[in-house]
Amino acid sequence: MIKLEQLVLASHNAGKLKELQAMLGAHVKVRSIGEFSDVEPEETGLSFVENAILKARNAARISGLPALADDSGLAVDYLGGAPGIYSARYADGKGDAANNAKLLDALKDVPDGQRGAQFVSVLALVRHAEDPLPILCEGLWEGTILRAARGEHGFGYDPLFWVPEAGCSSAELPPEHKNRISHRARAMALLKQRLGL
Ligand code: IMP
Repeated sequence: MIKLEQLVLASHNAGKLKELQAMLGAHVKVRSIGEFSDVEPEETGLSFVENAILKARNAARISGLPALADDSGLAVDYLGGAPGIYSARYADGKGDAANNAKLLDALKDVPDGQRGAQFVSVLALVRHAEDPLPILCEGLWEGTILRAARGEHGFGYDPLFWVPEAGCSSAELPPEHKNRISHRARAMALLKQRLGL
């Protein structure tokens, strides 16, 4: 089992850093890649796993520390997993509202039984830049895509993502509830298990 005193998170997002530090508690000191570089690597992979590994290796190379990266998005069954790794820029960088409008349009003629989707979160941890055995933790959150937006919480595709286990959209869930059951929560729980924490 990997024993870590500190690691660098391959993200400039302060919220993600805080969330991860809270999860890992006093066991591991989490540092930001922002301490070492402002340049983000090009995400050239074709899958969440490839992009998470690429970002983790880059952060380990720049910092000289073990590194953790995450990659996430929405994979819609009917669309062969799209928007997938392109979730943030599905509508060419025009933002969440445009992404949601494009998704609704792509599924406008798709019947209820074929609107399955998953939110996906992949975490990749490397001990060093050339680590041949990254730890990979995948969290999937199953749902279906609604025909119109519902709810005010969250971000991204939350208003269109129906959560059968909760009987509401992801954007109708209070944030604490979403953070307990989401794709990210699942991937994080696996990581904690893999680190023996
Ligand atoms: P990132 O991994 O934080 O860059 O997220 C990639 C993109 O996937 C986001 O910009 C959203 O469009 C989508 N996404 C990832 N997680 C969620 C979520 O929990 N709710 C809604 N959209 C999400």
